Amino acid sequence: MKKVKSGATKRREKAAAREEIANHPKLTHFLKPLVQTRSVSIPTETTNNSDCHYLNTRVESDRLICESTSNGITIPPIFLSDDPSEWPDIVSDAQRCDLVKRGFKKIEIDFPYNLERRRFSLNYYNRKMKNGEIFERTWLIYSLNSNKVFCFCCKLFGIISSPFRQGMNTWEGLSKKLKEHETCSAHFKCFEQWMTLRKGIANQTTIDEKQQKLFHKERIFWRAVLEKILDITLFLSARNLAFRGSDTAIGSKSNGNFLGVFELLAKYNTVLNELMQRIQDKETKEHYLSNDTQNELIRLLAREIKSKNLFKVKKAKYYSIILDCTPDVSHKEQLSIILRSVTCTPGVGIDISENFSLFPVVSVNDTTGKRLFNAFLNQAKNWDLNILDCRGQSYDNGANMKVKVKGVQARFLEMNPKALYVPCANHSLNLVIVDGALSSISAISFFGVLSRLYTLLSSSKCVKPLRFYLKEIIEALENLEEHALEKRDGATATKVRSLTEYIRTWPFLLSN
Ligand SMILES: [Zn+2]
Repeated sequence: MKKVKSGATKRREKAAAREEIANHPKLTHFLKPLVQTRSVSIPTETTNNSDCHYLNTRVESDRLICESTSNGITIPPIFLSDDPSEWPDIVSDAQRCDLVKRGFKKIEIDFPYNLERRRFSLNYYNRKMKNGEIFERTWLIYSLNSNKVFCFCCKLFGIISSPFRQGMNTWEGLSKKLKEHETCSAHFKCFEQWMTLRKGIANQTTIDEKQQKLFHKERIFWRAVLEKILDITLFLSARNLAFRGSDTAIGSKSNGNFLGVFELLAKYNTVLNELMQRIQDKETKEHYLSNDTQNELIRLLAREIKSKNLFKVKKAKYYSIILDCTPDVSHKEQLSIILRSVTCTPGVGIDISENFSLFPVVSVNDTTGKRLFNAFLNQAKNWDLNILDCRGQSYDNGANMKVKVKGVQARFLEMNPKALYVPCANHSLNLVIVDGALSSISAISFFGVLSRLYTLLSSSKCVKPLRFYLKEIIEALENLEEHALEKRDGATATKVRSLTEYIRTWPFLLSN
């Protein structure tokens, strides 16, 4: 009869087996150190980096070695072959360390032709600059097994898929693809990681200075580009000019102010000229001129300006506020907040500054004093602004703002009695004019005529033409009357005639 083991016995046996396995030295422990045999550009000094302690051990061949544990789980091999086509998509840290330390051999063979009678050539290992300088593409690695080329650093450090990670064997247009790859930001990032690791492994000994220099040069170039693009953004924003046109093509007459200024500056500035050349030669896909980049720059600059202004207000400590509401084009109510502060600098003088910022609040139905006051309180909290430092408040004469019981003014004074309320002078003057106009019969009829003229002539500005071009307006009205009569439009003809006759009776306008 077969003896069945109890659960406890099974667990005991399993634990004993686990302990035994744990006490065994790892397979890599038995691997013999190997003398470096292949041609590498990286020194092979022992490194102090504890993560790379196994780097002095090598397998005899380049075949993959897999460690298999007793429970059947396969641990990825530390030592990968020299051929990049055999490397996994995601390499482990240990594999990366080993490959970077080993470096790779530049394959120089009679490269095979493909079906289109094209093949890889040794020339691709070098990059020729516009000034004639030649740099070796130290990152380009040829795979003998797959007849493909790879980017060594992108293969090891990259995370996004790219043709040079998967292997490239389309030889047609390879020069252009290589150029595009070596100038893209993803490659720079991987290249930098490669250099850093290599430097660490080599214990600060010689690294490829030429490549580093090239990389550094490229970084300086892109910084200079960004600086110029920021300047264009500032220039257009400060003048309130539109950025975009009806298309986004370089060289187009309707590509808007941003691209237009870029094109103009590219004529005189070497950095922008170089970028323009790269774009025209299709050497780069990254140019930082897109609509998204423009928006991002505007957003970043606005944030910076806001934070600088806020810093100024906080430094001055005391401030006053002006709040006003107005609907935007989508009929959403916008609350604008203006902060005023006074900066006194010894030896320089007194500077009264007004800082404007805007943020959407609520729909048009919800502009009650309470809602507006709460919106301001929230914003002040976001800005970390102390309400008790406010010394003045000013609004229009809207009931929701100024009334003494539930208006913003009253609520503010409840919290901070020192925030004195002053009605907005512009709004008050406006009200005086409206009231004044309503007290005179001539004025009432004048504005009535303006309104009728507005309807007839579809013009938004009537006062100025009436003052300076009265004769022309009367002529236009007479022509309109004739035209209406020709069309047998009696209603319009009568309206126009009565209006013309009425305007002729205005002594204060005709006296001039
Ligand atoms: Zn790359």
